[in-house]
Amino acid sequence: MVKELKGIAASDGIAIAKAYLLVEPDLSFEKSEVADAESEVKRFQDAVSISQSELTKIREQAAKSLGEDKAQIFDAHLLVLGDPEMIGPIEENIKNNKVNAESALQETTDMFISMFESMDNEYMRERAADIRDVRKRILSHLLGVTIPNPALIDEEVVVVAKDLTPSDTAQLNRKFVKGFVTDIGGRTSHSAIMARSLEIPAVVGTKEVTADTKKDEMVIIDGLEGNVIINPSDDQIAHYKKIQSDFELQKAEWEKLKNESTVSKDGVHVELAANIGTPNDLDGVISNGGEAIGLYRTEFLYMGRDNFPTEEEQYEAYKAVLEGMEGKSVVVRTLDIGGDKTLPYLDLPEEMNPFLGFRAIRLCFANEDLFRTQLRALLRASVHGKLKIMFPMIATVAEFRQAKAILLDEKQKLVASGTDVNENIELGIMIEIPAAAVLADQFAKEVDFFSIGTNDLIQYTMAADRMNERVSYLYQPYNPSILRLVKNVIDASHKEGKWTGMCGEMAGDQTAIPLLLGMGLDEFSMSASSILKSRSLIKRLDQTKMVELADKALNQATAEEVVALVEKYTAE
Ligand code: PEP
Ligand code: MG
Repeated sequence: MVKELKGIAASDGIAIAKAYLLVEPDLSFEKSEVADAESEVKRFQDAVSISQSELTKIREQAAKSLGEDKAQIFDAHLLVLGDPEMIGPIEENIKNNKVNAESALQETTDMFISMFESMDNEYMRERAADIRDVRKRILSHLLGVTIPNPALIDEEVVVVAKDLTPSDTAQLNRKFVKGFVTDIGGRTSHSAIMARSLEIPAVVGTKEVTADTKKDEMVIIDGLEGNVIINPSDDQIAHYKKIQSDFELQKAEWEKLKNESTVSKDGVHVELAANIGTPNDLDGVISNGGEAIGLYRTEFLYMGRDNFPTEEEQYEAYKAVLEGMEGKSVVVRTLDIGGDKTLPYLDLPEEMNPFLGFRAIRLCFANEDLFRTQLRALLRASVHGKLKIMFPMIATVAEFRQAKAILLDEKQKLVASGTDVNENIELGIMIEIPAAAVLADQFAKEVDFFSIGTNDLIQYTMAADRMNERVSYLYQPYNPSILRLVKNVIDASHKEGKWTGMCGEMAGDQTAIPLLLGMGLDEFSMSASSILKSRSLIKRLDQTKMVELADKALNQATAEEVVALVEKYTAE
């Protein structure tokens, strides 16, 4: 039966393929007695050996598609599976107590997990997580259910999930994953942002797609309009194939602008930069004609692994990006963990409101070693290109001063030890907390630049969680309240001879661009896949006319009125 759903268009394009359900299976069971303990032990051993061959396969596949460093996570799991000190006691438990394998597995591993978790040594504490993962895998084989392994996907599919964490998204192989659709999330949740950087069509926040879709059912994802069709008719498939090919043609048109600079019809140049998460995203930046990197989200370097990246690893990553950009600006944001981005190896207490909690610069101040390691890696890499550093989630001028002082301290130490450091690193802040937007005139005296993070600025201004699709209607980039904050920031920076960029999703929004151009934004940083269509738009706009549009927009009452004005001013 055909089923149509509406969600939030999160990444452009059309995908038509079979569903791959990335949904956690039910692993519940009852404890029971067994009459034949020997055959129960055998059942357990079979589950262990299937888990071993499955993990070996996943490890090989992950090494091929994601690289050796990511694949190493699975080595730790294989070690646990092959450890007689772990497996032996479970078998003993089955034999001695005549219990089913599931409950022996649960009880014995619980004991090991609490033992490891109570250790002082961080490395040993991390082993508890490995045991949990391995237990889940053995349990799934005992119960005859399947744990999805996105790294093993080897045919064209559309991934259907409740939500995708940034680390799930990082595991998706573009060759086979043609699109994804989720129950929850919004346009600015990090899985959506990553889908755009991978250029995979995506629809998020459908509320019920996992309940409505079965494994292998055909699914159409319309990432342009936010539509999802499960079990489409032949006519619907034909219709969307046409939209898909029209979109490809459109992209080929934009492609022609790849080597052009971004100049409005009346000759005003603005910079179109790209947001990246890893050095691997550089290819997309170059192929889409990015003029700079306006936001390098360094936290992705810390994800999908089981320990902190060393200073050396970070240095290599930053150097690769700076060299890859061949002297063009690269704005690197220091670690922004917290909110929807967590690290399995950084033990943080659960919070009631993670987006209002211990996140980004706040977490870096409390873990200064972590912060200093990153700053040293950045400073050392600075000689390889045009590095600019910015701090996330700055709420007060004192926070900026503190971050700057730590950076200068590390710089001084490096210079004293004879290490070369670039003397001209610009230092800026993200404007994503309303307090900083309001006080931009004071900040502008001390920073070299601002970059407006509208994903957070809008969630904090509207008090609407960016991950919650129930309040996603309040994600209103065109609301005059947001426009006034943006204008205040741009004007404040210009008054002090500084510049303002924007790296939130609003910067690549085709309705917002005319307004931002009119407000005098200097740099627009977006998913690489949005650059060429934005360049095409800006080349058709008259900046002087957009100034008039922006002035009027700032004095409207609602987002809808602003959209109507934009339509009027941009009609050709
Ligand atoms: C933002 O908040 O707009 C931003 C660019 O940062 P992030 O999406 O990573 O929070
Ligand atoms: Mg942010």
